[in-house]
Parts: sequence; structure tokens; C-alpha cells
Amino acid sequence: MRAYGPQHWWPAKTAFEVILGAYLTQSTAWKAVERSLENLREAGALTPEGLRAIPLAKLRKLIRPSGFISRKAPAIRAFVAMLEKEFGGSLSAMAATPTAALRERLLELPGVGNETADAILLYALGHPVPVADEYLRRIANRHGLVALPPGRARIQYDELSDLTRKAFAGDAEESRAQLFNEFHALTVAVGKAHCGRTARCDGCPLAADLHRAN
Ligand code: SF4
Repeated sequence: MRAYGPQHWWPAKTAFEVILGAYLTQSTAWKAVERSLENLREAGALTPEGLRAIPLAKLRKLIRPSGFISRKAPAIRAFVAMLEKEFGGSLSAMAATPTAALRERLLELPGVGNETADAILLYALGHPVPVADEYLRRIANRHGLVALPPGRARIQYDELSDLTRKAFAGDAEESRAQLFNEFHALTVAVGKAHCGRTARCDGCPLAADLHRAN
């Protein structure tokens, strides 16, 4: 935090835009997502109503910059259909659902895995759930933050979530969403600047912790 300052994530103007971004960014760089969101904006499809009004083939075309369109377009449509059917089209009504039940419901949707569900819960709906991603996995792995059983090399998603929860367990419940938000944004910043496929530890704000860990 001292090295990067507040990150003010997620990069989107509305909760629905956050949700679209969470789908579109799967296996895709954010620059490509921005191009898709711009296409959707120009087509008036950055709201649930606007998105419902466009045919699937057009949606595919609009989100083409983000790739995987035959998976992502129907998945986005399924989310919008669920929002309409189960919550009367209201994201506020959806956000009022208890966290565990809502997470379970999101995971039942096509194209929604742990990371997408948690990004929607935290960044669009304000629920206090940590978001884990490949950047956090690399940092946790390189710093030895999770003890893996013999024969397993990959840290699982739930282990990363637990790691984050434990790190903020002493903080007030009402500040957790904000803390998880900043923490995820900061791990992405460190990951992009230093801890990608190759670790560039020189100048990394976590380098002192790495030396303590090893
Ligand atoms: S010091 Fe930074 S770059 Fe090096 S392993 Fe840790 S997080 Fe990654």
C-alpha cells in the first residue's frame, strides 16, 4: 500500500459494467476488454435492458475484441436472464441476497468460476469476499505462504481466499469489502509490475518479505 497508494478499483463506471468486465476479462488482457466495453457502450448495451435488447449474434460481434465469444456471449446473456427472472432486473435486489447463497447461485451460471463469482460479489455487489487470481497465486507460491501437501504443486483457489481472509481477520467486518478490494488491486499491481511469469524482484515492494520467507 505504501509503495502504490490506494488503487480505487475496479476500473468501471457502474455495477453492471463491472459484471460485464468480470466475464470479458476471463483469459483476456484488460485492454481488449476496454475495446469490447466501448463497443457495448456505443450500442447502448451497458445496461441489463440494453443488453437484453440486442441479438446474440450482435453481442458476439461487439465483444469480439475480448475473444472466446461463443462462450462469453451466452454466459453474459444467461446472467442477464437470471437477473431479470430472479431479481426483477434489479442489481440492488440481487445484492441484498445473503453472500453464501448468492455465491452459490452465481457459480451455477454458465461461464462463472470462483474468480468471476467473487469479482462480481465484491466489486459489483459490495459483498466482503476476497478475490484471488493468478497474480496472488504466484506471489503466495514464491513466498511460500501456503504449505502444500507432498505431490501437489498448485495452490487451490480456496486456499488463496482463506489466506486473504486470515490476513484481514482482525479488521472490522464493515471495512472488509474495502480491504479485500484494495488488497486484490495491489496484488494485481505488484503482479503486473514485478511478479509475472518471471519474477523481477529488484525494486519489488515485497522483496523484503521474500528474503524473510527464504
Ligand atoms: S519479491 Fe515481488 S517479484 Fe519477487 S517473488 Fe515476491 S512478489 Fe514476486
